[in-house]
Parts: sequence; C-alpha cells; structure tokens
Amino acid sequence: MKIIEIVQKHQPITGNDIADRLGCTKPTIRADLSLLTRSGILDAKPNVGYILNHKPADNPHDFSLFRAKVKDVKSPAVYVEEECSIHDAIVKIFLKDAGTIFVVDADGYLSGVVSRKDFLKSIMGNMNIHNVPVGVIMTRMPNIIHTHDEETVLQAAMKIMEHKIDSMPVVEEVGNNLYKITGRISKTTISKVFVEIGKNSGEWGVGSEE
Ligand code: ADP
Repeated sequence: MKIIEIVQKHQPITGNDIADRLGCTKPTIRADLSLLTRSGILDAKPNVGYILNHKPADNPHDFSLFRAKVKDVKSPAVYVEEECSIHDAIVKIFLKDAGTIFVVDADGYLSGVVSRKDFLKSIMGNMNIHNVPVGVIMTRMPNIIHTHDEETVLQAAMKIMEHKIDSMPVVEEVGNNLYKITGRISKTTISKVFVEIGKNSGEWGVGSEE
C-alpha cells in the first residue's frame, strides 16, 4: 500500500503531507489512515505525525484463534444408531439442541449424517417416521466430510464453506475408513470463534469495554 511506503520513507509525517505526496486531499485518505492506525500498522503521534508501528506485540489484533485447533473448540457430538427411527432421531435433535445428527453403525463407527432438510424431506415424502430407520435417509460413508483434532479452525471452516454443509463430525481414524466420533464442528462453532476474534481485537471498542 502506498501510504505505508510513504510513511516508511518520511516518518514522522503528517496526514496532509501524506496526501500531498499522493496528489490528493487529506479527507480522501482519512478512512485509510484510520484503518491503518486501528489495525496497529501505523501509530499516530499527536502534533508529530504518523510513524510505522514496529512493535507487533502492540498490535491489538489477535488472529491466533484462526490457528486454534479443532480439539480446542469442538462440542460434544450428537449421534444415534442406524436402526434408530427417524422420529426418535428428531426428538434427540430437539433434546440436544443440534441441527445435524450423526449416525453410527452397530460397532460405534461413523456411518452417516442426517441434516434438518433430510428430515424435512422424509416428512414431506410421507415416510412412516416411526418405523423407517435413519439409515434409510442419511448421507453415507465414505461421503462424509469430517475433521480431526489437529486440524486448525480455519481449515475446518474452509471445508464447511467448500462443501456447503452445516456441520462436520470430528473423528479419530481407528482403521481403514473406520472412524470414531469425538465431537462436532458446526457453523455455530465457527461463528463463536469469529466473535471471539473480533472481541480480542478490541474492534469497535467491544473488547476494551469488557
Ligand atoms: P441442511 O440440508 O439442513 O441445510 P446441510 O447443508 O448440512 O443441512 O446438509 C445438506 C446435505 O449434505 C444433506 O443431504 C446432508 O445429509 C449432507 N451433509 C451434511 N453434513 C455433511 C457432512 N459432514 N458430510 C457429508 N454430507 C453432509
């Protein structure tokens, strides 16, 4: 960015002088200067001018949560066995306040996923939800998008976006294509992390007031 280069060469430098060197007026660059100052890249010294902030530790922005691991933010998984009826799975979704429910086979390994719309489809298709097991309507392995403890939150969020899904099981691989479920990561988890990053950054004064 040009402003940073100018400050680097001529610091301390006033806003007016930066504007002069850019061939524009100060109001034109006011928003940029404010952003660069708030993000800790520039320091505004009263009556002196702008200087480059060389101390990253002073940078109020904390994006370290992007590097947090899935294991640090996952929530408990909600799952049923394949034989569970659609009705009972829906009841469990309400009781556990989940959106998506995971399905395990008789040995406890991940075998499927059922989303809210999967349930709605089964009801609109007049299925007998008391008799039909979730195994009939679930999306099956090996097509389940999953994550694991050591992946970063950002990698998990990218998978959720890329595959346009609401939720993923966190798994531990215990054999060839055999997975035990150890938790879940959902869009809600990602939203919570996003809010934490915003608060930690002190952006809009939220962090500093708490
Ligand atoms: P909804 O359909 O309620 O909006 P999703 O977008 O998560 O919820 O689900 C869309 C479709 O993708 C559904 O058919 C569901 O079975 C499937 N699905 C949901 N989560 C996963 C996942 N982790 N891996 C593979 N398929 C999934």
